[in-house]
Amino acid sequence: MIPEKIDCLIIGSGPAGYTAAIYASRAGLNPVLYQGAQPGGQLTITTEVDNYPGYPDGISGPEMMINFEKQAKRFGTDIRYGMATAVDFTGYPHKVTIDGKKEILADSVIISTGASAKWLGIDGEERLNGRGVSACAVCDGFFFRGQDVVVVGAGDTAAEEASYLAKLCRKVYLLVRRDEMRASKIMQKRVEMLPNIEILWNTETVQLNGEEGLESVVVKNNKTGEETVLDATGFFVAIGHKPNTDIFKGYIDMDETGYIKTIKGTSHTNIKGVFACGDAQDNVYRQAVTAAGTGCMAALDAERFLMEHEVEAIEEEITHSH
Ligand code: NDP
Repeated sequence: MIPEKIDCLIIGSGPAGYTAAIYASRAGLNPVLYQGAQPGGQLTITTEVDNYPGYPDGISGPEMMINFEKQAKRFGTDIRYGMATAVDFTGYPHKVTIDGKKEILADSVIISTGASAKWLGIDGEERLNGRGVSACAVCDGFFFRGQDVVVVGAGDTAAEEASYLAKLCRKVYLLVRRDEMRASKIMQKRVEMLPNIEILWNTETVQLNGEEGLESVVVKNNKTGEETVLDATGFFVAIGHKPNTDIFKGYIDMDETGYIKTIKGTSHTNIKGVFACGDAQDNVYRQAVTAAGTGCMAALDAERFLMEHEVEAIEEEITHSH
């Protein structure tokens, strides 16, 4: 198959990717955006977004992402379904493979692949995913109305998920692997005030039981070694996120957890013409608005790069013709 040659490729469709698309389209870079495995990104699995400036009454996550997409389309972004499955940044233009078959040659690449929920990797977790096991209380909590559920984690996400589920479920067990929570004081207070949340300290999950659906959870106290079986039909994992950057390993500089390193105050990576924005390069702020802000930076950096590159190419042409 003949590779498709483009000016600007955007990988990912969260707030970072779409903002990059809006700016790149308006700057005439004719960007092509591949949406990835979860079109719209992480906000499509939340309910209300109350902290994005410009929406005084809040807006639902999915609706907000539809708006982002519409706005990018209005300026002519070529939005496509598909996943970037491999890259080759050793030459120029940059090579990116889509869905294992289609090849794109891009003069500039904007990485906005975001982050995904982490899993425990325990027995039964994968088998029961979608059948009791979830990483999003807001998406799936409704299915467990009046039932007993387990939440794993001790950060703000876990506290938020447990509080949310406590409104719907009969009982929520919150498994904390240490003797303290990492969540902010106010979030912890909220959890402690809800009578149907039981915090199990120093507790880890051993195994999930059930065939067609989750039936029970085997947990272990890591201080005493004592194992207990909790009857529960829902198991919510809230232990943080992992950046979706595996395909860039070996080309792009990253920290030890896979977050892409950008040159301070810019979206430049160690590879010329490859820019990174959003959660793929941010393990500190991780907000929709900061993702959008860095998406804008990436498009402006790409525009400047392409302009300079064009100048260089013209200069080279002139030198050769003399
Ligand atoms: P965090 O990284 O803050 O917390 C992850 C939690 O999961 C930790 O308590 C950790 O335990 C626990 N954990 C990790 N691995 C395991 C494991 N294998 N078994 C059991 N427990 C495990 O992630 P969050 O997603 O909670 O938060 C990410 C960021 O987003 C934070 O900065 C947070 O403040 C922010 N946030 C803010 C919200 C808000 O303000 N409304 C809502 C949600 C998130 P340990 O503590 O022992 O390491």
